[in-house]
Amino acid sequence: MALEQFDLILQSSTEITPKLRHLEFLRADGKPLNFIPGQFMTLLLKNSVGELKRRSYSLANAPGSPSLGMAISYVDGGIASETLFNLKQGESLKAMGPAGRLIFQEDPEIKRYILIGTGTGIAPYRAMLSHISERFSTRPHFKIELILGAQYLPDLLYAADFLAFSQKNPRFQFHAALSRETSAMQPHEQKGHIQTYFDALSLHPTDDVVYLCGNPNMIDDSFKILTEKGFESAHVRREKYISSN
Ligand SMILES: Cc1cc2nc3c(=O)[nH]c(=O)nc-3n(C[C@H](O)[C@H](O)[C@H](O)COP(=O)(O)OP(=O)(O)OC[C@H]3O[C@@H](n4cnc5c(N)ncnc54)[C@H](O)[C@@H]3O)c2cc1C
Repeated sequence: MALEQFDLILQSSTEITPKLRHLEFLRADGKPLNFIPGQFMTLLLKNSVGELKRRSYSLANAPGSPSLGMAISYVDGGIASETLFNLKQGESLKAMGPAGRLIFQEDPEIKRYILIGTGTGIAPYRAMLSHISERFSTRPHFKIELILGAQYLPDLLYAADFLAFSQKNPRFQFHAALSRETSAMQPHEQKGHIQTYFDALSLHPTDDVVYLCGNPNMIDDSFKILTEKGFESAHVRREKYISSN
């Protein structure tokens, strides 16, 4: 089925770090967007010579939220980075979607989700929080471990949201892996890459489903480790953040 196309109007743009922003959009036609948490939108942007380029961004707000949230990481010289970091409130751009298969699923046999994201690759999991609450209330033994990978503490996107959610929901554990941080850390934070958590999680290839989102190298490395631990690909859901041409 063809993806729906419509204009998005920027409502707000919030700086998280100089290279990381959270943007909120509204549909120009005022219609709601039906999507499954974990899906993304594709923005249609023109480069300096007027060619149309497609760039995808995960939806960071839960379905039914008043606006569509996206987290954008700045890439030097990037077409979308330049456009999105300079977009002003009230300006619009063309979008299509939603799409994507890194989605929250029924999985009646699964006992635990391990949700792993680097940088803005954590955004799809924020969109899942309301569905996770519902799952906890209907499946008393279902658990989630969420691991966010970043370089430094200020890069930990949406960490306050995940921390607050974990405090209300003891079956949701939030961990952060910081590859370059040298200052003191809180108990849920640890120096290193997300892969350093794998041994401590007592991974189980049939009870667990692992979601991997963000940096392509992290995803390939993690997938290799998980395969060696006995995971079949149906139990590892992946979304690599790469640009199309
Ligand atoms: C399904 C999907 C969902 C995505 N969701 C998000 C999201 O939620 N947030 C988000 O910020 N991005 C997301 N991305 C990545 C996003 O679509 C763009 O690829 C990214 O914003 C860079 O686009 P650009 O036009 O600014 O840079 P480009 O013009 O594509 O690239 C400029 C230069 O930077 C290099 N480059 C591109 N990406 C990176 C990178 N990550 N690190 C270092 N160098 C790079 C390129 O090779 C090129 O040399 C997603 C990608 C996919 C496929």
